[in-house]
Amino acid sequence: MRVPVHPDRQKILVVNGDPAARSALSLALGELGYEVLHSSGSADTAQIIPLQRVDLVLFETPTVDGGRPALDVLRLLRATYPDSLLPILITATGPDAIEAMRTGASDCVAPTGDPQMALARLAFHLKRKKESDEARLRAQRFELAAEATGDGIWDWDLRSGAIHFSSRWKQLIGFDDTELECTPEDWFGRVHEEDQSRLQLLLSEVSSDGGPNEILSQHRIRHKNGSYRHVEVRGQIQREGANGTALRIAGVMKDTTAKRIYDPLTGLPNRTFLMDALQKAIEYREGHRRWGFAVVLLNLDQYAAINSVFGHESGDQLLIEAASRLQRAVRSSEGGESHLVAYLGSDEFAVLLGGVDDLREAQEAAAKMQAEFGHSFLLEGTEVFACATIGVALWHDGYRKATEMLRDVDLAVREAKSKGGSRIALFDLPMQQESIRRLELSLEVQRGLDLDEFEIYYQPVIRLENGSVAGFEGLLRWRHPERGVLAPDQFLTHAENTGLVIPLGVFSLRHAAVSIRQLQHRFPSDPPLYVGINVSPREVRQPGLASRVEDILNTAGIDASALVLEINQRAFSGDGETAALALHQVKSLGVRLRLDNATIEPQALRYLSRGLFDSVKISRQLVQSMTTNEEAADIVRTLCTVAKGLGIESLAEGVEDQVHAQLAMEAGTMFAQGYLFAPPLTVPDAVEYLTQIRA
Ligand code: C2E
Ligand code: CA
Repeated sequence: MRVPVHPDRQKILVVNGDPAARSALSLALGELGYEVLHSSGSADTAQIIPLQRVDLVLFETPTVDGGRPALDVLRLLRATYPDSLLPILITATGPDAIEAMRTGASDCVAPTGDPQMALARLAFHLKRKKESDEARLRAQRFELAAEATGDGIWDWDLRSGAIHFSSRWKQLIGFDDTELECTPEDWFGRVHEEDQSRLQLLLSEVSSDGGPNEILSQHRIRHKNGSYRHVEVRGQIQREGANGTALRIAGVMKDTTAKRIYDPLTGLPNRTFLMDALQKAIEYREGHRRWGFAVVLLNLDQYAAINSVFGHESGDQLLIEAASRLQRAVRSSEGGESHLVAYLGSDEFAVLLGGVDDLREAQEAAAKMQAEFGHSFLLEGTEVFACATIGVALWHDGYRKATEMLRDVDLAVREAKSKGGSRIALFDLPMQQESIRRLELSLEVQRGLDLDEFEIYYQPVIRLENGSVAGFEGLLRWRHPERGVLAPDQFLTHAENTGLVIPLGVFSLRHAAVSIRQLQHRFPSDPPLYVGINVSPREVRQPGLASRVEDILNTAGIDASALVLEINQRAFSGDGETAALALHQVKSLGVRLRLDNATIEPQALRYLSRGLFDSVKISRQLVQSMTTNEEAADIVRTLCTVAKGLGIESLAEGVEDQVHAQLAMEAGTMFAQGYLFAPPLTVPDAVEYLTQIRA
């Protein structure tokens, strides 16, 4: 009976010293539908295999062409083809079979006897070969597909430790296929030291029984050229048994460097990119003394307002348009191609001007950038203006780090802002000296805190209807060992720009809490005396305000109603909602909030009307202007009316004489503080004051 031809005929190469003498087995194979090729075992055997895509080799005789032992040919073939690629069978039994297996045969069949058994063994090896071909093909297809997306493939056998990297994987870190050995060390040994511990932890989770089934790791890996690439690695873990022992892990590696150094919204290089380029510029300059560079830092003045009034989509649109205008300005400047425009986040852009070696040239480039902001932006059909405040710094030989230069150009921007914004400020020596002075001052403030040189003075708040004391405002003073008693203006603005504002704030709150407990105890009243404490905008924005306040209330053992926090409306500029949220948390403790230095700014009124505040303090400027300016009196009246409508208290500050007091009362304020009643007092003076008032 003729067996139908094998559907996808596998090819068997039968090696026989005398190909003409075909064995029963070889004949049967043909009958079974396999394609059978013959070779005498001469040198061309090795060439037939790849040419004809042979699936299995069967040595029929112990010697081949010219009396050469078949095992020699077998050894030769095995050097090129592992068992999984090419099963090789030998007809041998007994010690010969053992020798053949040792030399690399996949299996042995008996030279005589039942050919059915031999056929079954051959069929088994051919099936195995087919499966392994299919698996390899699948893997190749997967590699091709994955590599088409630019990802590299890796596959790690956790039992043997063998790891495989695809060509693309190697390319991602600069190697060609033949260059890198495939060992775990080739990978993990190249990971940035700062990312090592995180990765090692992940790997130990992978290898632990019952660990995760997939992993995601983001780390930096050293490229052949010495730079680091950011990569995102995903892997699937194959586990076995009830314990979930990890056998194998395989996955893809994606290069995410570009994503990390470009801002997705504007498409511009980001801060990391800029800092890297700036550092390289500083280093390049060291070896090229005739080459110079400058940094321009640019803040979009109305960005926060546009975001809050028109929404974030308009804010984003503004940034995109600003980015393209900046690029245009930079391209039109001299040497435009060697300049780099970057977006640093929020409202901040920076430009690295390469090859610029005098300040005037840098200033001209900055002026071009500023001119781009001279015309309006069209955001969702609305025309808006967004000016730019710009700082410029030129390299100097003192710079070693990119951060130093960015710090200086940032200082220039702040200088420009302090003069009203929408202008260009150049970083120069006096500014540098000022920055050093500020640094020294902040160190001194720290020292002053350590040496207990700070103190709180208390200024009484008076009920206008009867002159009684309702409470106090606590005001910070510094008993400086050389400069005498300093008012906050002389140090607080500097502290605002450093982290010191938090310890100073905690100091004020803690002392005020202790003092008010003493005063309430000595001078009981209904309602009890309270103390108001100023909280700087930066303190409001720093996380943890409510928990700091709660701690202080608990430690001092006072009721939350003894404390009023005075909040300047500046706290709401920028991200007003975050500030409002932090204040709501404080309010939920039972602490009262007071809007300080109030004017009729829409933003302040918005938060007033949202019920955040329990009282409003009208600014000294407004109160004092009432004597000469009818408009000021109108504003004070409006504020009092708003407060009354909301059912909250209004206070006038800076009341220096009877006229101020009279006008404030007529405008509708219920409370006042100022030199007319008392200046800020030490605790003993406050006790004395209360004693006299109550006498
Ligand atoms: P502020 O909250 O507006 O405080 C009122 C300022 O007016 C105080 O100045 C006070 O001494 C002064 N003052 C009181 N009555 C009169 C008056 O009748 N006429 C005039 N011309 N001035 C009067 P001070 O103590 O120099 O405080 C300045 C600013 O420093 C305060 O302004 C407040 O914003 C801030 N500040 C004070 N203490 C602290 C504190 O502990 N923490 C924080 N973050 N800021 C504080
Ligand atoms: Ca105040």
